[in-house]
Amino acid sequence: MNKFIGYRCSICATEYLPGQVTYTCPADGGNLDVIPDYETIKKKFRSEDITSRRAASLWRYLPLLPVSDPPGDLTPLHAAGWTPIFALPRLATKLGLKHLWLKDESRNPTASFKDRASAVVVTRAHEIKAEVVVTASTGNAGAALAGMSAAVGQKAIIFAPKSAPQAKVAQLLVFGAKVILVDGTYDDAFDLTTKAADEFGWYCRNTGYNPFTLEGKKTAAFEIWEWWLGAHRDWHKKDSPLNNHSPLVIFVSVGDGNIISGIHKGFKDLFTLGWISNMPRIIGVQAEGSAAIANAFRANTEAITPVSAATLADSISVDLPRDGVRAVRAVKETDGTYITVSDAEIIQAIAELGKMGIFAEPAGATAYAGLVRAAGLGVVRSDDPILVINTGSGLKDVRAAMQAVQPAPIIEPTLAAVKKIL
Ligand SMILES: *Cc1c(COP(=O)(O)O)cnc(C)c1O
Ligand SMILES: [Zn+2]
Repeated sequence: MNKFIGYRCSICATEYLPGQVTYTCPADGGNLDVIPDYETIKKKFRSEDITSRRAASLWRYLPLLPVSDPPGDLTPLHAAGWTPIFALPRLATKLGLKHLWLKDESRNPTASFKDRASAVVVTRAHEIKAEVVVTASTGNAGAALAGMSAAVGQKAIIFAPKSAPQAKVAQLLVFGAKVILVDGTYDDAFDLTTKAADEFGWYCRNTGYNPFTLEGKKTAAFEIWEWWLGAHRDWHKKDSPLNNHSPLVIFVSVGDGNIISGIHKGFKDLFTLGWISNMPRIIGVQAEGSAAIANAFRANTEAITPVSAATLADSISVDLPRDGVRAVRAVKETDGTYITVSDAEIIQAIAELGKMGIFAEPAGATAYAGLVRAAGLGVVRSDDPILVINTGSGLKDVRAAMQAVQPAPIIEPTLAAVKKIL
């Protein structure tokens, strides 16, 4: 029944059968990698069989996922993923770059990257007949779990810090989840959730705890791969200078480290299947005030030391990242690096992306803020092809957005007043 071989611990490399464990390594608490059945996939599918599938969602990659068909049909859960990639030529010029794109994850059903993970976890929950799914969340993971669960009639419970932005809490409530606000940090909510799940027998989606979140998140790498294949075809025809390009460079914001690890896993899957011959460079961006993973990378260690997180980018505000080890490896193994940015740079990035028609929440704009830094530091070269990921919508945190702009003037309803302010 299981569509995967088992799990491998990212720390001690012990392998487990699908029924043997559910969350993390019983020996050392390490994050578990799902081991896909690469041999069977290779025998059954060529890359063209995947790229010619019709689903305009992450479900086009079902053959590469460790779950079977999602429950129901034509629901928002079936629409997760397959987000657009936009060219940003004006920002590229401004930064002295030639090739810059943005993948806009705010266009997921609940407006963040987290839908990828929640769509796959809710499908897994259905498969194992879990009555209740639960997660701790700063907001987006919860909104995604609540939304994907509502779509297929799954019961969901969300623990969020009481400081979560209001729009995110509104989403949780509107999607009909049971919402419990914790008088504490995200980390407090996280620990409480795993305890409650054990106590009450709920299926826990916590990021960097449930191995299936990463499997959902890896689908973003598959989409980037397909886009890259298509882009190559065009460039070839036009005899573009990109024919002899350096590897794609991907910028992604990092909190717990599960998104960056998922993107890394997706490209590793493609590499193992022999469908790509080069890995992209992956660059993680953290807020200066919440940089536990960047700190570990810079100290050349996989031991993550917790910080006391303080940043306005709530989605990446984490004391103890739950997927830090794999997040360090994601950049180390791809010749990437970590960049840290201030809250002021994040706000500036919201404003710059906004002028391109892209509305990002603080954690979403963080990747672009990282690119601005990286370009200044010479981490990327002017002709590198660069893809920045916007992980969440600006509508999620309107208060932060208002810090990126000047307030609108209020005038009397007369032409004279209009003339005066123009
Ligand atoms: C969760 C989230 C992130 C960070 O993902 P991690 O897996 O915690 O590193 C970044 N941006 C947004 C909008 C998110 O919701
Ligand atoms: Zn282990």
